[in-house]
Amino acid sequence: MDLDFSEDDIQRYSRHILLPEVGGTGQARLAAARVLVVGAGGLGSPVLLYLAAAGVGTIGIVDHDRIELSNLQRQIAHTTDRVGMAKAHSAAAAARAINPGVDVVPIEARLDASNALALIGGYDIVCDGTDNFAARFLVADACVLARRTLISAAVLRYEGQLSTFKPHAGGPCYRCLYPAPPPPGLVPSCGEAGVLGAVTGVLGTWQATEALKEILGIGEGLSGRLLIWDALAASLRTIRLRRDPACPSCGAAPSITDLSAHAAAAEGAPAEGAACGV
Ligand SMILES: [Zn+2]
Repeated sequence: MDLDFSEDDIQRYSRHILLPEVGGTGQARLAAARVLVVGAGGLGSPVLLYLAAAGVGTIGIVDHDRIELSNLQRQIAHTTDRVGMAKAHSAAAAARAINPGVDVVPIEARLDASNALALIGGYDIVCDGTDNFAARFLVADACVLARRTLISAAVLRYEGQLSTFKPHAGGPCYRCLYPAPPPPGLVPSCGEAGVLGAVTGVLGTWQATEALKEILGIGEGLSGRLLIWDALAASLRTIRLRRDPACPSCGAAPSITDLSAHAAAAEGAPAEGAACGV
């Protein structure tokens, strides 16, 4: 660990360094960490802004979309004067403006079966902020195959869910919870059903917190637990998740051993899925 901080770094990170569980060693651990944020939308915005502010050394941001006016109600990394700009580059500019000392890597591409393993394999932790089931299952399967920790959040209307999946460390994976995507049309997208913007901010900030805990190795992670927050009721539930021995992704005899099913599905499906730019 490189503990050779500049005077500016000591000032910038002083409130972290003061924490006994973080200190200089933890701050150096953050500087050495690599996190991939998939989707620079309502979830990805607070994730990448807080990771950059925290001094996470390398932050990849993958998004193929461009900013639309309807995104700005919740996607706080972007600004009105950047409508039309690629989200990956807008988000990278926002992160660098907060902390020019971290390496922000904008990847203007759609994560798909052809690039997911190579991209995800280059990072330690993946934060999923995608907005459709095809992308969520692709990210989840790629993380299992690449043995990467996945911090997954989802929002709809006034509700959010959060969990951490790391079957390589013994916990359940996303498919232990949801073995297969729901039939098209069963679950509305937030483009159809709406979402309170601040709810995405809470869940994204929570994702960032869990990513920082995983990097620092502090506290109780969310592997094996699903948090469900109802913003209208202001109530939080925790559901215990178990690993499924028959899981198609992480089970004893998995049927998913590569991403070929995702490639085949993408060929037969419209490119956008249920996209709303969460
Ligand atoms: Zn599983």
